[in-house]
Order: sequence, then C-alpha cells, then structure tokens
Amino acid sequence: MKKLLILCALIAVGRASAQLLVETEAFTDKGGWVADHQAFEQIRSAYLMAHGLGRPVADAETVVQVPEAGDYHLYVSTYNWTSPWYEGKGPGAFQVVVDGTPLPAELGTTGSGWEWQYAGAVRLAKGDVRLALHDLTGFNGRCDALYLSREQTPPPADYTAFAAERLRLLGHEAPQRVAGADLVVVGGGIAGCATALTAARYGLKVVLVDNLPWLGGNHALGVRANGLMFENLYPELGNITCQILNADITEKNNPEAYFVRENRTGYIKRYLPIPALRDYKGPPSELMTQAQENLSVSERQNITKSELNQNNNEYRRKQQAEIRKSLLEKAGVAIYQHVQVWKVAMEGGRIVSVAGHHLQNGMEYCFEGAMFVDCTGDGVLGYLAGAEYHIGRESKAYAQEPSAPEVADRKKMGMSMHWYAYPREDSGTFPTVAELPWAMPCTAESCLRSSQWSWEWETGLEIDNATQIELARDNYFRAVFGNWAYLKNHDEKYSDYRLDYLQYIGMKRESRRILGDLVLNENDIVNRVAYPDASFTTTWTLDLHYATPKQRKYFPGWEWMTYCTNGREVWIKPYHVPYRCLYAKDVENLFIGGRCMSVTHQALGTVRVQATLGMAGEVIGMAASLCKQYSTTPRGIYRDHLDALKRLMRKGAPLR
Ligand SMILES: Cc1cc2nc3c(=O)[nH]c(=O)nc-3n(C[C@H](O)[C@H](O)[C@H](O)COP(=O)(O)OP(=O)(O)OC[C@H]3O[C@@H](n4cnc5c(N)ncnc54)[C@H](O)[C@@H]3O)c2cc1C
Repeated sequence: MKKLLILCALIAVGRASAQLLVETEAFTDKGGWVADHQAFEQIRSAYLMAHGLGRPVADAETVVQVPEAGDYHLYVSTYNWTSPWYEGKGPGAFQVVVDGTPLPAELGTTGSGWEWQYAGAVRLAKGDVRLALHDLTGFNGRCDALYLSREQTPPPADYTAFAAERLRLLGHEAPQRVAGADLVVVGGGIAGCATALTAARYGLKVVLVDNLPWLGGNHALGVRANGLMFENLYPELGNITCQILNADITEKNNPEAYFVRENRTGYIKRYLPIPALRDYKGPPSELMTQAQENLSVSERQNITKSELNQNNNEYRRKQQAEIRKSLLEKAGVAIYQHVQVWKVAMEGGRIVSVAGHHLQNGMEYCFEGAMFVDCTGDGVLGYLAGAEYHIGRESKAYAQEPSAPEVADRKKMGMSMHWYAYPREDSGTFPTVAELPWAMPCTAESCLRSSQWSWEWETGLEIDNATQIELARDNYFRAVFGNWAYLKNHDEKYSDYRLDYLQYIGMKRESRRILGDLVLNENDIVNRVAYPDASFTTTWTLDLHYATPKQRKYFPGWEWMTYCTNGREVWIKPYHVPYRCLYAKDVENLFIGGRCMSVTHQALGTVRVQATLGMAGEVIGMAASLCKQYSTTPRGIYRDHLDALKRLMRKGAPLR
C-alpha cells in the first residue's frame, strides 16, 4: 500500500515545485467514486464521479508529496452537470478535504461547463499530504483534477490548451513508443476483437487498443450478440466470432442452435460453459459491488430470482471478456486497455501512428503500424485522419433509399444503460420530482412504470455520441432519476423498491460512419444486389430506433424512450455485404470495422448486430494478412487480389 501511495505522489507532483497537479483518476483509494472517461473530448482526461444514486458515496483519497512548505491555492476541475437543462444550483456537490479538514467551498454546483473552481487557500507542510473528495449528495458530482499553486491563478480555462501543460506537470511529455505492428486495431468491441484475433492467427503482429476495463465493447457492458451465422455465403466465416463470443463453433452452421424469430432474425441460444463465478479473476463487477454494498445480511440471502439472474449475467459477461482477453493474448495480440486514442499522425495519405492516453495513470503512447483498423464505433480514427464520414440520416436523394427522409438530418440511434431497482427490507426514501428540479419532470402521464431498463430506454437521439457522450449519458441520468422520483413516491407498487444499480458508461448504437469505396444502402440489401466482392452475411432486419411520439410531446429534444423498426417495416433476406465497405476511401491504410463501416444510416440497421460485425472483422483480418503478403493496400486487395481473399474466406481463419 505504502509503495502505491508513493507512486501516486510521484505521478501527481509536477516538476515545477510551486504547482502540483493531482489527477483524481490516479487516487489510490477511490472510495465510492467511479472513474469515467466520457468527457475526454472536452477535458482530455478521465475524472472521478460520485455515482451514488442519491446516496452520498464514500470519500476518495490519496496521498501526495508536497515538495515545498507554504501557502497554496487549491483549484478543482469540475462540472455542474445539470447546467445544460437547469439554471439553479446543480446536484453534484462535493468538498475537498486536506489532511482531514474539509475546505468550506461547495464545488460542482455552479457554472455551465467543465471549469476550474476555487476551493480555497491551504497551508501545507513539506512531505505527505492526504487529499480526499467528500461527496455531499450521491448525485454524480465530478472532479477531474486538483491543482495546487503558490499563486492565486487558476489553470487556463481552455482544456485543450492546458493538455500539454497537464502532461508536463505529470512528467508524461515523451510518449511511450509501441513500434513494429503490422496492424493496429483501435476499439476492442466484438468487431475489434474478431479482427485482431483473425489477423494474429495469420501471423500478423497485432496491437489492440481499447479504452474500457473489459474487452468486448457493448458486449462486455451488457448487450447480447445477435445475427445468424448459418446463412453465410462463406460458411467458415464466423468461427473466430464464435471463439470471441465463447460460442460453440461446431454448432455454428446448425440452425437448431439459434433462436430464430418469425422474421428470420435471431441469435445463438447457448454458449460454452464458463468457469464458476467464484473463480472470476477479472476487474470487479460494477453491478455486483454497486447493487450489493448497501444490502443487509438477510437481504443478501433473500435476493429475488431476477436479481440473482442479473448478477449472474453480469458475471458471465465479465468472464467472457476475460476468456476473450486470454484468447487474444495466446494468439500474440499486444493488448492495451484503458487507453483512449485521440490523435493520428499522417504521412502522404497514410496513418503512421496513433496517440493514446492512459485513462488511469496519465501515460501517453504512440502506436506505430503499417495498417490501422477503426473499430471504435465512433469512427475516431477515420475522423482524426480526415476521412469523409456521415452522421445521422442521409437524404432520399443520396441513394434513393425508400426509408430515407427527404432531407438529411441528425437523427440517429442513441445510447442506453442498464438500471435496476429491487425490493428491499429497508428501501429508504428517494427525493420527489419537485425536489429534483434538474431531472425529467415525470408525471402519471409521462412516466414509465418499470423497475428496470430495457432497450427502449435510450437517449442521445440527435446528439453526436462520438463527441458528446457525457451529455447523452447525463440526459439518461435525468430520465432515470426523474422517472424513479415519480414511481417511488407515487406508485404503491414501487414504494418498497430501492434504486440500486445504474450504469454510467453509455452503450452506444450509432455515431460516425466512415465512407469506403462502396457505401452500402437499403436498396442493395432489399434488392439483394450481388457485388463481386460479396463477403460476410447480414441477416438482421433494418432495425432502427426513433423517439416515440409520446416522448416527443413531453420531452422534446431530450427524449429517452424509443420504438424500433425491427420487423415492422423492412424485413430482409440474408445479404452478403461487399468487402469495399470495410476500408476508408480516402485514407490509404485504414480499414473500417464494426458499426462505423461504410453504410448508410438505413443499412446500419442490419449490419450493426454483433455476430455480423464479428464476421466483418474476420474479413478485415484476412484482408490485412493479404495486404502484408502482397505489400498492398486494403483497396489493392479488391483491385488485384480478390480471389486470394475469397480463398481465405472459403477456408476460414486458423482456429488456433
Ligand atoms: C442497448 C443496446 C442494445 C443492443 N442490442 C443488441 C442486441 O441485442 N444484439 C446485437 O447483436 N446488437 C445489439 N446492439 C448493437 C451492438 O451492441 C453494436 O452495434 C455493437 O456492439 C457494435 O460493435 P463494435 O465492436 O462496432 O462497437 P462497440 O461495441 O461500441 O465497441 C467499440 C469499442 O471501442 C472503444 N473505443 C471507442 N473510442 C475509442 C477510443 N478513442 N480509443 C480507444 N477505444 C475506443 C469503445 O469503448 C468500445 O470498447 C445493441 C446496442 C445497444 C447500445
């Protein structure tokens, strides 16, 4: 423990002795605060958040070494997170405690964006000083960093301008170079993992970079993998996807192994057994800790079947993420987790390296490679490299799609998070709607009577989920808190329930789509246009989500409940997607996988399910191996080596 504390102090103390920057995500004891990276676009850092569902969380603490005794001014980087909707005092109040003494300033409740707030003057002795964040409400107060200075001057208000100074103060100016990769895959969702595993099995040197603690993206966060893999043009595609999903390859081409709906969509029914829960060794499960830390002993013994199922599902997902990780490691993939990619370096139309920031220790990386894959879901690499992209719905004029609107707009599918309320012996109270003026003002008419999330709970329907995910997520918080405030206080059925779990990392459905040599559209799919480079097969319907009319009435602009078009509008037959959707048209060495591949908004409705995206990843891995073999580009594979790609797709990737 002592060793850890010293490490943190060294990280935290700037080299200019009169200033100390303390990153809260590097605190040694986070107490009840959670580390969140969703404001990275705004502040270039992760931060700690008091995610207590209205119950103040335990203090986060760390020890720093003060190099010079004296009087210091303390500034705190924080955000009054309800300010986009509410002008009054925000709910995220917290204090800073210095060596056991709370500073009087209440932070995080004013202002309208991330900013440095003054916490007060403190006299510090040389040597160890204990700093703590003391939450006052449990309603998502947030603190990015503490800045101690001998002068009463806050850091610059412009966080982008401050980013370089931040690195200097933390001693991370020179990035760690990771060189020699054939393929750098950014984004560790099912798409990224399948790509990385396939490429590694063909002998490529692969680096996989992801910003979450668990590999699997949405899958690890709680989304099932849909898509049929027995209708493939290339029946051996999907084997790697099965391995990544922990499904039985021998059952892949057996229709009986799938749950198939009336509209011919479906998903794998069973997965391979996973080790017993007690053997789980991965990062702690947020659901289990958050949901159970307030339980009495008797409640622990009496939890309902549905709660037990939810907990088991959570453990299964986390275990699957660990199995996935060990598969990738065994195949030789170098995995970098907790790393946010935020910059690319280009030379003559090619990416030469990408920069990553470690979200826990603040280190910078430079990942160099011959080829890159954008599996971020948000099209981060393509965007940073200047590739052309689309976001929202294309107009009808773009591709004459029957379901497209006349005029292009920003409508898109949003993000969701799990939440659960459970019956509890001591369910306590929850503030009323009137006491939460910043939350959704739910009423008998506008509320949703449920004690848990379902996929329809969705926000960020017109927000750019790539750059404004914190805003979309916060709107979701407002919906859950406002709705729960109404149910708990007005609906007898829920009076003895307690809101016990709410995720805080958004599961995203749609962001930017990078344009390839071919942009797949609804007509291609519905008319089953056969392209020469047909590759992986998509089977899901054109399943898109839009705000319900009722929500548009009650919460215009900030809707949080959707309907889906799955099976209601356009049913499809299995369609074999062209390879040209899998590389950027204007960045020579960039593949585009997962939900940022080259499709229109309408076409995304089918390809976006995870088994399908996994198979697309396999095709990218195969193409990348051929790029290396023939010293060519992703486009060069289509132009000159399509037969070779078809041979690999026919054969399937090596299974070990
Ligand atoms: C609530 C919900 C329900 C859904 N239901 C289903 C369903 O039932 N069945 C189904 O098959 N699909 C479902 N989907 C769709 C499916 O989850 C997604 O389309 C799919 O997960 C996309 O996979 P991906 O690998 O492309 O992206 P993701 O799963 O989003 O993975 C992208 C990864 O990249 C990381 N990343 C992003 N930016 C960076 C960066 N700058 N640096 C480093 N890492 C980065 C992300 O954190 C993430 O780990 C659902 C989606 C949601 C949100």
